[in-house]
Amino acid sequence: TPVLVGITGGIGSGKSTVAKIFSILGIPIYFADDRAKWLMVNDEILKKQLIEAFGSESYDSEGKLDRSFLAKEVFSDPEKVKTVNSLVHPAVGRDFSDWASTQNTPYVLKEAALIFETGNNKALDFVINVSSPLKVRIARTLMRDSFRSEEQVNQIINQQLPDEQKNELADFVIKNTDNKLLIPQVLKIHQQLISDK
Ligand code: ATP
Repeated sequence: TPVLVGITGGIGSGKSTVAKIFSILGIPIYFADDRAKWLMVNDEILKKQLIEAFGSESYDSEGKLDRSFLAKEVFSDPEKVKTVNSLVHPAVGRDFSDWASTQNTPYVLKEAALIFETGNNKALDFVINVSSPLKVRIARTLMRDSFRSEEQVNQIINQQLPDEQKNELADFVIKNTDNKLLIPQVLKIHQQLISDK
């Protein structure tokens, strides 16, 4: 199995942008947030657990996840959100580890909005945090996502660990401010990760 490296960063920090650079270097990327959504529809164990927790209405007759039903179920109930997470996170963990074991590169990346928040860093060898000033992140997110209000963006930010704390916990920090170039920072980390093993 390759070395397992997480890449995280708050909303709008640029972690997807940075992941793209690694991917150009030939590093396989696992997109945990997209994959979690996929697993909720396709992982039989997880589906069974979600049905047990939230009822058969969670899926329609064709086995498709009823996201709006589930969203209504968990809406404004932190305990239910915890239940969903406690089922989805282990499923993603299993799936990631199966996926990683089939890759033939010195290391692989797992991109996820939440890594330290969920304790997932314990299952990874290294974590990279993509760090940008709050103001820049809000501006970039509002520019990219016209469907989100500033209030919604702030709400998401409040669910994430502050950037300064993530920088302290991370093994590598990539600064994505307007005056810092990303590619040289990525190359430096890449060199370290491939010379480590
Ligand atoms: P999310 O958590 O919402 O998925 P993210 O951390 O993956 O966000 P990106 O989608 O990579 O962030 O970046 C947010 C937006 O900011 C994108 O539209 C991206 O193109 C833009 N962006 C990122 N970095 C830079 C940069 N250095 N200069 C200009 N625009 C940037």
